[in-house]
Amino acid sequence: MSQDNKKTGWTFEIFPPRRTANISSIYCTLADLKKLKPDFISVTYGAGGISQGSQTVEIVNAVKNHYDMDAVAHMPCIALTKADAEQQLRAFKNVGVNKILALRGDLPADGSIPQGEFKHADELVRFIHSFDDFSDFKVYAACYPEKHPDSPDWESDIHYLKQKVESGVDGLISQLFFSNKTFYDFMDRIRSAGIDVPVEAGIMPVINSRQIERMVQLCKASLPEKFCCVMNKFSDNPDAMFEIGCAYAVDQVIDLVAHGVDGIHLYTMNNPAVAARIYGSVKAVIGRV
Ligand code: FAD
Repeated sequence: MSQDNKKTGWTFEIFPPRRTANISSIYCTLADLKKLKPDFISVTYGAGGISQGSQTVEIVNAVKNHYDMDAVAHMPCIALTKADAEQQLRAFKNVGVNKILALRGDLPADGSIPQGEFKHADELVRFIHSFDDFSDFKVYAACYPEKHPDSPDWESDIHYLKQKVESGVDGLISQLFFSNKTFYDFMDRIRSAGIDVPVEAGIMPVINSRQIERMVQLCKASLPEKFCCVMNKFSDNPDAMFEIGCAYAVDQVIDLVAHGVDGIHLYTMNNPAVAARIYGSVKAVIGRV
């Protein structure tokens, strides 16, 4: 990665509340995140197999038109027909959102295979670009510093990532990781393979032990020994966990910025206090670089 004095952008990820009735809580979150002037807010869609598509439209609409921030709508395609996908894209366009994170989507926990017309994210990327109506869309895609759990080896992972980028991806957002060395090795691999789009580094502050179990289960992220040691020691002390989780993320971000990362994508878990703490601590050390 380059080590010049370029600015590192911040982007934040939020998810629709589990209960539709709680949607107003997200507006308080957005008001707080706006103070941190992110490059964009991205909004998940049915992550973990829960279907929340209409809420994603409602929330990106609020991000863009009420809070005046740039919005990226996540769009998993594995369960969609092409007609559904077109309808979904038009719903985003109708509220002025033209930035999409094109995803395959998590497979249902029961092992069933959704009956959609897309198998992989690259097909959705090509589908979006096949419409004149969506010619102004900017398309992002996901990448995995520890390789995707379904990839048999690195060669296959990088091959399909390159294919996905070449189908029309403007930027990548990484899966969360806890070892920066893993991310730097990944960047070396993709740059050597000729993948040259910007990559946002996914950082998730871990502030409680429940989160760890869920993350390991969902993302298969590996946890460094140093991380496990402190988390185990303080897992039943919520105040300590908050401080340790924020400090770990701050340490990661400062190191990433020093290595010239393209951007920081913070998985906020809808917790603006954590985002503000991390952003503020990094800014105190190195300014908005
Ligand atoms: P793909 O790019 O399709 O890759 C999946 C696997 O298939 C990889 O092993 C890849 O090597 C392989 N592959 C890719 N293309 C091909 C091909 N053409 N032929 C054969 N093999 C291929 N999930 C949600 O449901 N909702 C969300 O909002 C959401 N947000 C996310 C945000 C981020 C930043 C990230 C990193 C993930 C997110 N996910 C979300 C999870 C994501 O949907 C899963 O990780 C999913 O398992 C893979 O999605 P993908 O788009 O990376 O898949």
